Amino acid sequence: MAHVPDIAAPALDIDKIRKDFPLLQEKVYGKPLVYLDNSATTQKPQVVLDTLERYYKQYNSNVHRGVHHLSQVASEEYEAARHIIAAFINAREHEEVIFTKGTTDSINLIANVFGRGVIKAGDEVIVSAMEHHSNIVPWQIMCEDRGAVLKVIPMDENGELIMSEYAALLSDKTKIVSVAYVSNSLGTVNPVREIIALAHARNIPVMLDAAQAIQHMPLDVQELDVDFVAFSGHKIYGPTGIGILYGKREWLDKLPPYQGGGDMIKTVTFAKTTYNVLPFKYEAGTPDISGAIALGAAVKYVQEIGLENIHAYEEQLVNYAVAQLSKVEGLRFIGNPKHRSGAVSFLVDTIHPYDLGELLDKQGVAIRTGHHCAEPVMDFFCIPGTVRASFAMYTNKEDIDRLVVAINKAAAMLR
Ligand code: PLP
Repeated sequence: MAHVPDIAAPALDIDKIRKDFPLLQEKVYGKPLVYLDNSATTQKPQVVLDTLERYYKQYNSNVHRGVHHLSQVASEEYEAARHIIAAFINAREHEEVIFTKGTTDSINLIANVFGRGVIKAGDEVIVSAMEHHSNIVPWQIMCEDRGAVLKVIPMDENGELIMSEYAALLSDKTKIVSVAYVSNSLGTVNPVREIIALAHARNIPVMLDAAQAIQHMPLDVQELDVDFVAFSGHKIYGPTGIGILYGKREWLDKLPPYQGGGDMIKTVTFAKTTYNVLPFKYEAGTPDISGAIALGAAVKYVQEIGLENIHAYEEQLVNYAVAQLSKVEGLRFIGNPKHRSGAVSFLVDTIHPYDLGELLDKQGVAIRTGHHCAEPVMDFFCIPGTVRASFAMYTNKEDIDRLVVAINKAAAMLR
């Protein structure tokens, strides 16, 4: 029988943290909610909800446009949020932090401007076999437009990238590499330092899709020396509709603008328009002001708890989940990476993931079923989808124990 490690969280008071999240106190079908769909989106702490409300009640106004008091307060809060996020990822300059709608928007932005600014027919772009559709399709669209070629780093049966194959793919034709830091469908933590080092040895820039990393582990853009990073606010306890693109100034200064509109211009005439400096060059139109400010509040909340502490706790949590789930009869993991974070994917016997998901839901257990926007991963494993349980800093041992009880009950009914 698998050894079940215990979970110690000396640095975190999980009970206290849970009380910060109103939705965790809700019941589903009369049962206390077990929320294990955190890779899809995380719940929001009271401080984030309060920040949103305060913006609309006390200083709702447009940014960077008004001389009046409300606009000044809104602009200050919006820019303060940028500083918080820049410090959080250790950006050299806060101007390297661009507010977007989320990971998808950030990747589309870079694929678009990189395509228009750099890519020529015959050039190559590298992604990996375990990408979310958001880190595949924008590059496909761009490659189709530019006559470029999309190359894919293969993975093995454990759900780990085959690094020798990656090294062999890199060539003079490669113009950019874009990979997930952590896979949303398998939980694999990719060796991003090695991926970046190998690309940089050939002067190739690297973009990281950090949608499933930013909430689980410290990410230092200078230490990684990464060129672009994308993440979503709603996956790190912030609101939906807001996200971040980090880009090195040397790249963002020289790449062309993305969308045209207010704020991104210096001067406009019908003959010629000149563009604004960073970060405004990439923030056309009225941004999600309340979202940006509330994302700043979410990041501050995470910083106060400490991402190192969260990382250490969640590692134990994932190990505990793997050990407990291993005891479920007929359960097989999809992907068995050595280094895993945030999520566990599995199937039970020949039970369709959707059927299992429905019966878990009736027991108050929210998990995700399906292809998790990673159809190529499902094709690789020749399966229609998986059941995915994904974790956050407020997940506790009882959540996992209740998941296991619910799976056993559901499987007994479905067999
Ligand atoms: N990339 C990864 C790895 C993800 O997990 C997700 C969302 O699940 C995305 C990209 C897309 O994020 P969003 O829908 O917030 O833009």
